[in-house]
Amino acid sequence: MTECLHCGAPTSNGLGLCETAQAAVLTYLEFLPIYYANLARWRRPGRPNGSLGTAGQWMLRRGEAESGAIEPALARASATLHTWAEKLSLSIPEAATEADTFAALCERLEHALPRIAAHEGAGRFVRDIARHEHALRNLTETIVPGWYAGTCQQPAGRDMEGNHHVCGANTYVVPGLTWVTCHRCGATTHASAHVDVVLTEARDWTAPPRQIAEAVVVLVDTEHSVDRLYKRISKWGETRKRKVIRDGQEITLTTPPKIPTTRRLDEDGDPIGPKLYRLGDVLDTLATEGATRLVQRTYHQRVG
Ligand SMILES: [Zn+2]
Ligand SMILES: [Zn+2]
Repeated sequence: MTECLHCGAPTSNGLGLCETAQAAVLTYLEFLPIYYANLARWRRPGRPNGSLGTAGQWMLRRGEAESGAIEPALARASATLHTWAEKLSLSIPEAATEADTFAALCERLEHALPRIAAHEGAGRFVRDIARHEHALRNLTETIVPGWYAGTCQQPAGRDMEGNHHVCGANTYVVPGLTWVTCHRCGATTHASAHVDVVLTEARDWTAPPRQIAEAVVVLVDTEHSVDRLYKRISKWGETRKRKVIRDGQEITLTTPPKIPTTRRLDEDGDPIGPKLYRLGDVLDTLATEGATRLVQRTYHQRVG
């Protein structure tokens, strides 16, 4: 019989971490990259007042004053993960952005969980990543408010006349998270319960197709796959050309994009970066084209 290096409970698995501690580690490693990516969008190194520019229209401005806390918190979390990766002799991933590198590190640590559980420092590892998970989650929920999700409907007692009160505080959905936490009463509700308000609020948000797909999958019940939706959205923004024969002549038919897209402009006025889609256009097109199918139904289409 050994003892869990995290909670001290006796373990029968021969490892230094009990099943509960291992499950907690997996949860932390799942959410850490979501918090990191959301916070990284708000990081404004050397610009404590953090101008958000036009892309911030859908976000509230509360974060500006406090965004100076984001940079050091992300740096500390990243440093801790790097240190543990080195201790465990894991290779350090190279990715395009720091957020992607961080996500890849979390994934490597997740796969290394059996080795972590057998490591003499396993208890410290759990405490380390728990600390960063709490820190980044707190920042996420207090600094990055996300989309307005309506007022909190949690019952909050009765007044003198016996009428029921609700909490009434404003709530926000953070992109990437599936729940909404009220900062006044602490009530937690599922993001989909706020979907009508959020979708109205966020219609004018423009973003690259993958970010739009990520948001829609969280918010819309009928969408389950970010990858499949991402591919559909990308196609909706493309002009399609098709060659056909008319009266013996080959002509090219051009089908305009289903969704108009925009791109950012550089200093010379040339378009740069990925095509940007408006969330409202994607939702309208989804409504007319139907939900993304999980399985290609070619067989049924052929016989039906
Ligand atoms: Zn334990
Ligand atoms: Zn509340």
